[in-house]
Amino acid sequence: MSDDCLFCGIVAGDVPGQIVDSDDHTVAFMDINPATRGHALVVPREHATDLMEISDKDLERTIVAARRLARRMETTLEPDGFNILNACRPAAWQTVFHYHVHVIPRYDDDPLKLPWIPRGADEDAIAAVADQIREGEG
Ligand code: AMP
Ligand code: ZN
Repeated sequence: MSDDCLFCGIVAGDVPGQIVDSDDHTVAFMDINPATRGHALVVPREHATDLMEISDKDLERTIVAARRLARRMETTLEPDGFNILNACRPAAWQTVFHYHVHVIPRYDDDPLKLPWIPRGADEDAIAAVADQIREGEG
């Protein structure tokens, strides 16, 4: 538990939250600024800042809990699809620094848009980046 962490506060019950699911290692609650009807967040009970810091075990538990919640929404909210989203660091829009997975039910008529424009790229440029990433293998 991190003392000044909002989501640790929700997990501990010190900060109000609409909890919709929980197990020994995770808690799911409604997002206060829902992108769509039903937008929820799933967090590990144990504090971890982000994707880079969370343990493999909690990462696994959190994504499994996110799918469990999505399956529950499937029958209760009857959305047309889902986005499962994680933001890692401010450059990627992270604003709360306790790892969380967004479970965003999607509806055919919802207003969300893909945040980038698929416009292709030079094949050699893609291959060069792939080489650079592979250099880190091992
Ligand atoms: P991110 O920007 O990916 O770090 O997501 C943080 C999310 O937490 C945002 O979607 C916020 O709307 C949501 N949020 C912030 N404060 C609260 C809160 N007290 N209870 C529930 N959700 C919150
Ligand atoms: Zn925390």
